[in-house]
Amino acid sequence: MQQVLDRILEETRKLNPPGQVADYIPALQRVNPDQIALSVATVDGQQFSSGDWDTPFSVQSVTKIYSLILAMFREGDSLWQRVGMEPSGQAFNSIVQLEWEHGIPRNPFINAGAIVVSDVLVERYSASRTAYLSFVRQLANNDKIRIDRDVYQSEKEHGHRNAALAHLMKSFHNLHSDVPTVLDQYFYQCSVAMTTQDLAHSFAFLANKGICPFTKKTITTVKQTRQINALLSTSGMYDQSGTFAFEVGLPAKSGVGGGIVAIIPNQGVICAWSPKLNEYGNSAAGMIMIKQLVESLGLSVY
Ligand code: GLN
Repeated sequence: MQQVLDRILEETRKLNPPGQVADYIPALQRVNPDQIALSVATVDGQQFSSGDWDTPFSVQSVTKIYSLILAMFREGDSLWQRVGMEPSGQAFNSIVQLEWEHGIPRNPFINAGAIVVSDVLVERYSASRTAYLSFVRQLANNDKIRIDRDVYQSEKEHGHRNAALAHLMKSFHNLHSDVPTVLDQYFYQCSVAMTTQDLAHSFAFLANKGICPFTKKTITTVKQTRQINALLSTSGMYDQSGTFAFEVGLPAKSGVGGGIVAIIPNQGVICAWSPKLNEYGNSAAGMIMIKQLVESLGLSVY
């Protein structure tokens, strides 16, 4: 496995696929674009990593999985009255669909859906930011995981589109708490910094029917695990989810920091990172590395 990861990483580094570092906030624009990393965690508790795997990066939308799980714990099935489970076919930060569909976001992985999820956390957890960070640290087994304060500040200063989504949903009575509090929770969540190894480790339970292979603790029920993986398959890669299913065929989630996590049910988790993004906001090199690994080892679920 180590040799396969090293080979795929070096080939992709040489290929240097074109893309642009996220530029919607200054803090992400400053990232070195040439970094590249690949990690795997398996359901029998092994870990393999290659490249810049020990450099923490901005996890961004991959964190929407952690917050969704916390919301599922406390809100139960009523969550699905406020956020849907259909692919959006629109950009992750699109506003148009939200107006037509009366403030109910299509799924929890587009920004509007994740903002509703943040509202649930604010309402259901007494210290929602602390609850979130503790959950992430527990899943990754790493107490050093931190919020990147520069990214957090930058998100707050430049988050006009997210604020527009939140206000629009508030006008449809689909946010319960006040908009600045909900946005603060959302920006805080997006700004966590982790390595590819932290991420692969933290999501291993999703490949193992909800049980963390490292601690043997149950994180999610079998049903919740199936539901999360289903949503990742249909909506995790935004408006490139169909292409990703066609070409790779795994439940996956990307973030504009350049990270992609892919779940291989009953086998393990792949996490790829490289900051240059394609036109859909997905890591260009990350997509290639995951595709190569899945093809080399025959890992598609289809
Ligand atoms: N913080 C980002 C935003 O709200 C997260 C989006 C993403 O990673 N796709 O725009």
